Amino acid sequence: MNVRDSEIMKGYLIRAGHKIVNSLKDANVVVMNTCAVREKSENKAYSLIGRLKKRGMKVGVTGCVAQITAKDLKNRGADFVLGTRSLTSIVDAIEGKKDIDLSDNITKIDNDLILGRAKGHHAWVNIISGCDKFCTYCIVPYTRGREISRPMQEVIVEVKNLANSGHNQITFLGQNVDSYGKDLKDGTSLAELLRRIYNVAGVERFWFLTSYPSDVSDELIEVVAAHPKISRNFHLPPQSGSDSMLKRMNRRYTVKEYAELIKKIRANVEGATISGDIIVGFPGETDDDFEQTLSLVKTIKYTRLNLAPYSPRPGTFATKFYKDDVSVQIKKDRMAKLSKLQHGIMLELNEKLVGKNVEIIVEGKTKSECYGRTIGNRMVFFEGDVPEGEMVKVNIKRATAGPLYAEFHRKVLKVVK
Ligand code: SAH
Ligand code: SF4
Repeated sequence: MNVRDSEIMKGYLIRAGHKIVNSLKDANVVVMNTCAVREKSENKAYSLIGRLKKRGMKVGVTGCVAQITAKDLKNRGADFVLGTRSLTSIVDAIEGKKDIDLSDNITKIDNDLILGRAKGHHAWVNIISGCDKFCTYCIVPYTRGREISRPMQEVIVEVKNLANSGHNQITFLGQNVDSYGKDLKDGTSLAELLRRIYNVAGVERFWFLTSYPSDVSDELIEVVAAHPKISRNFHLPPQSGSDSMLKRMNRRYTVKEYAELIKKIRANVEGATISGDIIVGFPGETDDDFEQTLSLVKTIKYTRLNLAPYSPRPGTFATKFYKDDVSVQIKKDRMAKLSKLQHGIMLELNEKLVGKNVEIIVEGKTKSECYGRTIGNRMVFFEGDVPEGEMVKVNIKRATAGPLYAEFHRKVLKVVK
């Protein structure tokens, strides 16, 4: 989402005649787009602002840290501060006409600007901003505000324009994409959107993230199952494998319900892969709670898992009412244990693909290799020089706990409609 927000700001700036440069020494102004989800990312932003100001640079701060600590950032020397819903003010801010703007202009964003988009073949498309869930540890509802869905017709037009400009992969974004449309009360949903845009000519793959487990509808599962160009990957963060932790986190499902959902997805969607996020060392997490998380991870077999040690965030329920009582050392030990377990699982899952042919769209290149993702979101490298955006069939030769390594088989020709 931050990458997309940066693209939006770049688009506005390029349109206004400014130039985006890739190195600090060529820049007159630096825009720091920040993340506040953990203390570490927030501290990184503070230390960078200090270093940039020491070099005498003009610095603007945007994103989640900006939204909640605007005054503090100004005191630290920020030349301007824009909130998460004030990106439309970026040109004024750069030109010195605004210094703090935390107003809500989210519905006024010109999403149709192709200028500023990082890639010519893969586009991020915001469908819903904000979050209404209020998980007790999470700062997002405070930094990004309440849920606002974009009208489906507007998203459809954007997808068509992206396809016309050569984008063949679209990723729909939201803190909770399954909530898409609920606030509009006009039948809009992620399932309906996917159905309506599925036949937009030129788009070969649709992705969506992040899904909130208890909001995944049967309809969404059916739509994914019936449409092979939609990613088979469901990013469904469990956060913990212990019911008492889930309750304290205000996650609105039990471990049993979560496991049943995954079972249902796997029974209906051929080749479904599941990925997720887990918080380690949430207040009150006992050895037994943690064992239950290990057990969930063993059962589900995630193709990717993001692990984070619990980090108290100012203003959240957990910070106000729970003591951060799991020591740094225990958090570290539990992270290491989970990470080791997950490493073995990913290797085991990836090894099952050795010898198989898979289709990937080339998304980037290293010196001698191209890489892309399978429809189940597994990273594959292969030797060759295929242009970005092209779909190829490759044969998997070697598995690691990270990427897969393959041999080029053939290009996949597109069906011209
Ligand atoms: N909307 C998504 C998550 C968005 S935040 C969902 O509900 O699943 C991305 C991830 O950051 C979360 O899944 C969580 O694992 C992690 N995270 C959020 N707040 C955190 C905190 N206070 N400490 C540690 N990790 C946190
Ligand atoms: Fe944060 Fe996700 Fe919970 Fe929303 S649903 S509060 S973004 S973890």
